[in-house]
Amino acid sequence: MDTATQSLVNGDVSFWVQDAGRPTPRPSLPGDIHADVAIVGGGLTGLWTAYYLAHADPSLKIVILEREFAGYGASGRNGGWMSAEPAGQFRRYAAARGADAARALQSRMFDAVRESVEVAHREGFAEGVAKTGLIHVATSAPQLARAREHVRQMKQQGWGEDDVFELSASEVAERVTVDRALGGYWTPHCARVHPAKYTFGLARAVERAGVTIYEKTTATSIAPQLVQTDRGRVRAPIIVRALEGYTLSLDGMPRKLLPMNSSMVITERLSDEQLDAVGWSGGELLGDMAHSFTYTHKTADGRIAIGGRGVPYNFASGFDRNGRTAEFAVELLRARLGELFPTLRDVALEHTWSGVLGVPRDWCAAVNFDRSTGLASAGGYVGHGLSGTNLAARTLRDLILGEPSDLSELPWVGRQSRNWEFEPLRWIGATALYAAYRYADQREYASRSGKTSLVARLADTISGR
Ligand SMILES: Cc1cc2nc3c(=O)[nH]c(=O)nc-3n(C[C@H](O)[C@H](O)[C@H](O)COP(=O)(O)OP(=O)(O)OC[C@H]3O[C@@H](n4cnc5c(N)ncnc54)[C@H](O)[C@@H]3O)c2cc1C
Repeated sequence: MDTATQSLVNGDVSFWVQDAGRPTPRPSLPGDIHADVAIVGGGLTGLWTAYYLAHADPSLKIVILEREFAGYGASGRNGGWMSAEPAGQFRRYAAARGADAARALQSRMFDAVRESVEVAHREGFAEGVAKTGLIHVATSAPQLARAREHVRQMKQQGWGEDDVFELSASEVAERVTVDRALGGYWTPHCARVHPAKYTFGLARAVERAGVTIYEKTTATSIAPQLVQTDRGRVRAPIIVRALEGYTLSLDGMPRKLLPMNSSMVITERLSDEQLDAVGWSGGELLGDMAHSFTYTHKTADGRIAIGGRGVPYNFASGFDRNGRTAEFAVELLRARLGELFPTLRDVALEHTWSGVLGVPRDWCAAVNFDRSTGLASAGGYVGHGLSGTNLAARTLRDLILGEPSDLSELPWVGRQSRNWEFEPLRWIGATALYAAYRYADQREYASRSGKTSLVARLADTISGR
């Protein structure tokens, strides 16, 4: 192990949770209770759903049941990119419900970024929130071709220069000094957030609205009108499953959403000289166009956090050892940081952690409510959950309260994806997929043609991505 990794904190939920300070533990479920709405999972899906329901109808008795603490899951561990990219592909939503419906989803995702930022300001948890926009940078000819194609498709869907535009190599360089950057694109529809401060702040806002959050309370099964937990039973006419990557922890749901690992590392605080060398004074969120995608974030206190899917999936969906991260994933992220910013190659990393996000078999998020059973769910945002949770929650509010709106017509409402394959196919598939993507990226770095690697295209076809 080199000197730069010797004092690396590994796991302990996430850097963000340590930095924000763990919230004071809340009481567990005291035994059997009744409620109007029981929400299982205290991440952003559960918290936003409670927030909007409580504000729409303050007379509702709403409870949240959370296995650890509110913000323990992906919501307190993510990359802090509050972007407007919908989970799933435009062509899939368009094929199912028409191009106008798919376009409406994109438009509502733009709104969701604005709304998520506005509520944070209104409710007093906007520390670390900044609407800085997002740059996707291309460092190979095929990546550049994909960036241009993305902008072309967005324009074809009717979005203008105010929503997305292409960047030349020199325009990227004006914003951030990325090694071998050939160009990319920019969009204003993205905010930078400190994930733990944001989620903890929302949890407090939810409590102010009259909702009770029970922590250290594990749901074991959900049935119409009944949540069974290790602390007692909750009877409620409306039950919301808001577990995303943890969905398989419930009885009967082992193959519904694949718990995909995403891992992150964060540097120590950088010196002024180190920060000058990378430019990046606008603090935009920064992504690449690689198949084995990495997401990068310059924090408000002058660190760089980078994340990606080093070990994307553990056999039999085994996961969440409190965020502990495999050495292999740390080394991949360290190498990627050095590729993007060679001057930071030897910088010390302070913390590494991992989390799980939920991936549906068709890679498209879904929001569901069945009035006949009272069962609702939302999730499968595939790495776009920060604003997706907000939109899903407002959609659930309208569905649950029986108030039809344009949200209840969005193409992710009522969407059902088939289950994932049995093991060992699931493990072989996910592991081989990301090995193929890494191989394809390496081939593309050497390519001058601009053509996406055949290996990556095959992997996309097989995985359904
Ligand atoms: C490392 C990482 C980086 C990411 N980066 C980004 C990003 O930059 N931008 C973006 O938009 N998205 C990102 N995502 C995805 C995003 O964080 C998630 O999609 C989103 O937070 C999901 O919120 P959720 O409330 O549905 O799930 P979670 O936040 O995972 O919440 C689920 C909650 O349920 C609890 N729970 C689990 N089992 C039980 C049980 N049996 N009973 C009761 N409670 C239970 C968990 O403790 C957890 O608190 C990232 C995810 C990860 C892991």
